[in-house]
Amino acid sequence: MKKILFVSSEVHPLIKTGGLADVAGSLPLSLAQLGQDIRIFMPNYGAIKYNREVHKKCTLHIDNRTIHILETKLPDSDVIVWLLDYPDFFGNKGNPYVDEHGHSWINSAERFALFSRIAVEIAQDRAHLDWQADVVHCNDWQSGLVPALLSIEPTRPATVFTIHNMAYQGIFSQETFQQLNLPGELWNHHAIEFYGMMSFIKGGIACADHITTVSPTYALEIQTPEFGYGLDGLLHHRHNELNGILNGIDLEQWSPEHDTRIPQTYSAGRLAKKLINKTALQKHFALPENESIPVIALISRLVDQKGINLVIECLESLIDYPMQFVLLGSGDKELEHQLKNLSYLYPDQISIKLGYDEDLAHLIEAGADLFLMPSLFEPCGLNQLFSQRYGTLPIVRNTGGLADTVVDTLAETIADQTATGFVFNEPSVGALLETVKRALLIYANSKVWKQLQKNAMKKDFSWQKSAKEYIALYKTL
Ligand code: ADP
Repeated sequence: MKKILFVSSEVHPLIKTGGLADVAGSLPLSLAQLGQDIRIFMPNYGAIKYNREVHKKCTLHIDNRTIHILETKLPDSDVIVWLLDYPDFFGNKGNPYVDEHGHSWINSAERFALFSRIAVEIAQDRAHLDWQADVVHCNDWQSGLVPALLSIEPTRPATVFTIHNMAYQGIFSQETFQQLNLPGELWNHHAIEFYGMMSFIKGGIACADHITTVSPTYALEIQTPEFGYGLDGLLHHRHNELNGILNGIDLEQWSPEHDTRIPQTYSAGRLAKKLINKTALQKHFALPENESIPVIALISRLVDQKGINLVIECLESLIDYPMQFVLLGSGDKELEHQLKNLSYLYPDQISIKLGYDEDLAHLIEAGADLFLMPSLFEPCGLNQLFSQRYGTLPIVRNTGGLADTVVDTLAETIADQTATGFVFNEPSVGALLETVKRALLIYANSKVWKQLQKNAMKKDFSWQKSAKEYIALYKTL
């Protein structure tokens, strides 16, 4: 049994902006179920919605600041969550990272440097919590300073740093570094210095005992200039201490057999019932209610990474085909605007909901026939996993976790019943269009389609498998 401090800047269902929260809400649970003593550490954001008791555990003083650590538990579990309570930094009720215009909070460096420093105090059992970690498992740039700070302690727990997305690095000026009151020895290119700037993520990559990312293919991709953002050399240098472990999904929440948020539960053996959700989805999106017309869906943050531009261009050409398209997302204002425009032009075929809505995400997974993920890069991706569980066949680009989790529909994969979706290589409108058309053609053959749905629904994306891989890793450290 290991004592693991799991450090994450977001944890579902307390607060979520993306896949990291899903992982941080599920992996610790599976680790606990497998007998590990795990504590989650995260900031106490003003926007958190608690449904369990929260109480003050202890008080620390750092740089003339008085900081409380609160304790609660993950809903429906005994997993302890410790929260950094410092309202001056985290009390805001908005998004954890950005203001209402989508700009990073001006004091991001201070906020997450403090978060990292307190994580170190907890890990070293200097926070009056009476608990000494064996392993500190950090995630993404917000906790990247933790392995760096621990690396200069005389004795310390082992450190793991997981990269959920290389695109977010936490890069700040040298001047900011000086204001943060961090140990000066970290300012060197073997630690957090990155071309004259300070890089939080580099602290994790350079100093952790082991680095993981969330799929085997992404672990290879980030060692290349195209995906490495200038850190590919360092990642390649550390390739012996770097591997990919696929994310699982929370099957309590994401299973069509007992999903309480959808109008009609169903299973691989009762696929006809899925149609009730399809009709409800069409109704919700004010599209003609028609069981036989294929519904293509997309749920995403609207950012370049997700290939939304390709989708927008592709839709114009798809309008001539019998199909409906529904999208739930928010993000880039220009993309939002273009998508909305398309829905005004083609109200019978394209319907767009801007915003963040978890209940609607479940209805979409349950009601749609196809799910689009033409990402330019995708560390793991969760929606293609949810989609397969719901028999909603994903159309994905051959990258990162998408490549590792979706099996393309070809003559041989139809024959051996392994096909679960549609995969294309080039990040081009032509390639995407071609693949959507290929999927629509197969949709017309209901016997083959049903078999593909069954193949997808029976795949095992549970957390158990991945959690065991993490435990095996912790043991080697
Ligand atoms: P990323 O972490 O890059 O955003 P992932 O596919 O790993 O991508 O995870 C995204 C998660 O956020 C999924 O659980 C997805 O359903 C959810 N999500 C994204 N946008 C929305 C939205 N507008 N409404 C509801 N859920 C969303």
